[in-house]
Amino acid sequence: MSAPTIPIRPESQKTGAFEYICTRKDELIGWARKFSLFPYPFVTACCAMEFMAVSSTPYDTDRFGAALPRFTPRQSDLLMVVGTVTHKQAPILLKVWEQMCEPKWVLAFGVCATSGGFYNNYAAVQGIDRIVPVDVYVPGCPPRPEMVIDGIMKLQEKIANQQHLIVNDRF
Ligand code: SF4
Repeated sequence: MSAPTIPIRPESQKTGAFEYICTRKDELIGWARKFSLFPYPFVTACCAMEFMAVSSTPYDTDRFGAALPRFTPRQSDLLMVVGTVTHKQAPILLKVWEQMCEPKWVLAFGVCATSGGFYNNYAAVQGIDRIVPVDVYVPGCPPRPEMVIDGIMKLQEKIANQQHLIVNDRF
């Protein structure tokens, strides 16, 4: 007796359904991830005062799910580089970034982290994008808390619109 034939849907229908599921999956994971950011503050200089202001009650970064800084890179997904980075600190910054799990994002907080600012000299790194990939640049010296919040919202937008692979080519 021959085995029963299992009906197979046309290839086009299978592909359409798969794409639909993937799109919905990206939307769902993007929505969840954009409201569960765990920042690692890499704080080196005077922008730290502004970081404290952003983290204080009136600005309420909990609205964006980004209120709980983690002081270990292994539990963080948002590296906030706050202040001037010198060439001596560059390997440390790179190590912190490497220790963060995927997916991860980087925010350059202030003009020094963004471009070296007015420290155009042999000691300061002229922008942290020479060391780690940056997702959002927040200008200002120091940036106002509203600008930082705007940067976080821009990052949320980016996260919501990106593809969220559950398994990537490294695993
Ligand atoms: S951007 Fe201005 S406030 Fe921030 S670390 Fe540089 S000099 Fe200090």
